[in-house]
Amino acid sequence: MPRLHCVCVLLAVIILQASAQVKFADGNLKQARENHRPKEISLAAIEKLSSLSKTSNLNDVLKRLLVERVVGTAGHEEVRNFIVEYLRKLAWQVELDEFEDETPIFGKLKFSNIVATLNPNAERFLVLACHYDSKYFKNQVFIGATDSAVPCAMMLDLASSMQSLLNAKKSDNSLSLQLVFFDGEEAFQQWGPKDSIYGARHLAERWEAEDKLKRIDMLVLLDLLGTPDPNFYSYFQNTESWYAQLLSVEERLDRAGHMDRYTYSSVAPNQRTVRYFQPRSYYAYIEDDHIPFLRRNVPILHLIPTPFPDVWHKLSDDGTAVDISTVQNLIKVFRVFIAEYLHLDM
Ligand SMILES: [Zn+2]
Repeated sequence: MPRLHCVCVLLAVIILQASAQVKFADGNLKQARENHRPKEISLAAIEKLSSLSKTSNLNDVLKRLLVERVVGTAGHEEVRNFIVEYLRKLAWQVELDEFEDETPIFGKLKFSNIVATLNPNAERFLVLACHYDSKYFKNQVFIGATDSAVPCAMMLDLASSMQSLLNAKKSDNSLSLQLVFFDGEEAFQQWGPKDSIYGARHLAERWEAEDKLKRIDMLVLLDLLGTPDPNFYSYFQNTESWYAQLLSVEERLDRAGHMDRYTYSSVAPNQRTVRYFQPRSYYAYIEDDHIPFLRRNVPILHLIPTPFPDVWHKLSDDGTAVDISTVQNLIKVFRVFIAEYLHLDM
């Protein structure tokens, strides 16, 4: 079993005994979600999606995000504006979910979740999410590259590199893609129910009141990504088949030779096999932005490595901790996953 970093406030060691019973008012949406299956793309299509990395501007995007992003600071505002402008230029509908909340240390602060939607008229959404704020450290500058500048950069890169493929999907009113950049994930003083995941708590409550949660097929939460050789597990039983899909995508990309600086036993039999997506379930309870949605029965796919990266909540979680090959590999996996989930016309 992987070792859990039990000291971390993000992680409690409560074992989930049973999967949540999912009940939705709108039976049709629930049925459509449950009946939804991936549409496997061809080897040529995998090739095409991989090659999109060649013209990627990931490094430029990352540079803009690798700054201090503590809520209420100039860096935080600049990054928020950058994400909003970036996606508006790609013709996504971008909305800010703005609110105020009481925090320790800083008192009342203004938070803004960013919600970008490919086709707002769609009935159902595959939602990718991460948080864009960085953790406050007194008298120190903490960048939080893996936490979560890299996941934000990955989501922006997916939107730009897949722009033409996604544009063709804009007229589909049944299923579409949504990107959520949560604000205020980090605690300011000590992780607890009132000091953490400010943005996720607000958005889940708001969408529940607006009866929008039933339109979420699945919330895919990206967190602590960017260091080499992450180990993922399936954390939730009701999304296991979609986790298995990621595993299959990784295998197919690897077999086709598209995983960069990555060792696989068939290629190099004596080398350690790298597999990001482990073929195992692991029902650890990790506190993160998905929790308010999980509690409201939204299906969750949590893409966070176990164990967490060594740099987690250390000042060394900056640009030097990031392995671009790993990031590009993961982006390729997500491109194929999105294409197969949304049944993109390749
Ligand atoms: Zn953190």
